[in-house]
Amino acid sequence: MVQAMIAEMALKIDAAALLIYCAAWTKDSGAARVTREAAMAKLYATDTAQEVIDAAVQLHGGWGVVHGHPIECLYRDIRALRIYEGASEVQKVIIARQTLAQETT
Ligand SMILES: Cc1cc2nc3c(=O)[nH]c(=O)nc-3n(C[C@H](O)[C@H](O)[C@H](O)COP(=O)(O)OP(=O)(O)OC[C@H]3O[C@@H](n4cnc5c(N)ncnc54)[C@H](O)[C@@H]3O)c2cc1C
Repeated sequence: MVQAMIAEMALKIDAAALLIYCAAWTKDSGAARVTREAAMAKLYATDTAQEVIDAAVQLHGGWGVVHGHPIECLYRDIRALRIYEGASEVQKVIIARQTLAQETT
């Protein structure tokens, strides 16, 4: 079960990285806007960071919640990522609007 958790953590981290690289590549390619790509990267990477650190706490058992332990610090620090620079719900609104706009053009 630990191996399955590690595999899922690695999978999600790589998938998040690919969305970030996709947004960066789109920007570097000279696209006028990268709104949809950036919103997808921000949403998925921050949600994934939360899921991965939660799994890391679970893997570490009691140590994962000891105040001052690196895993515990990361668990608290990562939570804010889903709020600032556009909360997750706002990113979903952006992605849906951009997707619907693409479908109608
Ligand atoms: C650690 C940290 C650092 C920050 N650093 C900075 C900084 O350097 N510079 C800066 O300018 N700001 C900064 N902020 C502020 C941050 O950008 C805001 O907290 C963020 O935009 C959310 O705004 P709010 O707190 O007013 O919550 P609200 O906008 O009141 O949102 C509250 C909740 O409602 C949800 N929500 C809001 N609108 C919608 C919608 N249309 N549809 C569905 N759900 C919605 C949100 O997702 C959230 O869950 C920081 C915040 C934190 C926590």
